[in-house]
Amino acid sequence: AQRLKNGLAKTRQQLGGQLSALFGGGKIDEDIYEELETILLTSDVGVSATQHLLEQLRSRVKKHDLQDTIALKQALKDTLLDLLTPLQVPLEVKDHQPFVMMMVGVNGAGKTTTIGKLAKYLQAQGKSVLIAAGDTFRAAAREQLQVWGERNDVHVIASESGDPAAVIYDAVNSAMARKIDVVIADTAGRLPTQLHLMDEIKKVQRVIDKALPGAPHEILLVLDANTGQNAVNQLKAFNEALGVTGLALTKLDGTAKGGVIAAIAHLNQQSASKIPVRFIGVGESIDDLRPFDAHDFIDALID
Ligand code: GDP
Repeated sequence: AQRLKNGLAKTRQQLGGQLSALFGGGKIDEDIYEELETILLTSDVGVSATQHLLEQLRSRVKKHDLQDTIALKQALKDTLLDLLTPLQVPLEVKDHQPFVMMMVGVNGAGKTTTIGKLAKYLQAQGKSVLIAAGDTFRAAAREQLQVWGERNDVHVIASESGDPAAVIYDAVNSAMARKIDVVIADTAGRLPTQLHLMDEIKKVQRVIDKALPGAPHEILLVLDANTGQNAVNQLKAFNEALGVTGLALTKLDGTAKGGVIAAIAHLNQQSASKIPVRFIGVGESIDDLRPFDAHDFIDALID
């Protein structure tokens, strides 16, 4: 828990610090709500999620006839917990032999790093892992994965001449033959507005399904928490194009914008697709990827 607190230090200082100052024990009044609104907005919770949280908070205060700001702080934590708990749906590696995960996201979001962390995480759970270096645009991405794979004894399937669909198709077939549990397929970083690249990734999706009907079983979108509200837009766009099944929210350690997770939760509430946060990234080292736990997350942010 301390490690998570350290990882979330920046958001903790920004959000938690200001909240502690606000919740000093005085009476609850309109000024408090206004200040709270400002704090939430500057932590990238976003306009709509902020309104939602404040409404929920007000009704909680009314219902329990809360009087002072110490009670209000607990009420806020409870309100946040209600909002964030639906995001907490851990990745379940089902026995698909192999379970195929396709990683997507914009360049620099932390895809390659997350693949490495994820491979370790799954191995620690006793799963065998194979990585498909499907980012055929950047030779550096392929090399990075290969070096990482050698060091960690994870097989990486790559090809110099690059059709991503072919590389990933090979990887899935190879995993089937070798009875590997999980294939993690990298894809080139792209913006949702780059339509030809979105078409390409849809092709990858179709080809994976040909190799193993029903696959990919997880389309994991990697989002950089630093990008704040922009991450929400990326989520919408990628989901529309591909049908995202889970999120990895990276670099929460480097940002005061951790509130974006509340914006994501609120987006889920308003839309038909409920996309959970499978993992959060709170540092650069290999075990800084952890399953999202709403309760621990809130406790790490607010004392
Ligand atoms: P890609 O382009 O999406 O593959 O991004 P990379 O995996 O190469 O990551 C870009 C940069 O972000 C690298 O310097 C990573 O070390 C860094 N990074 C990724 N995840 C995290 C994280 O959770 N915390 C921090 N502090 N840095 C991260």
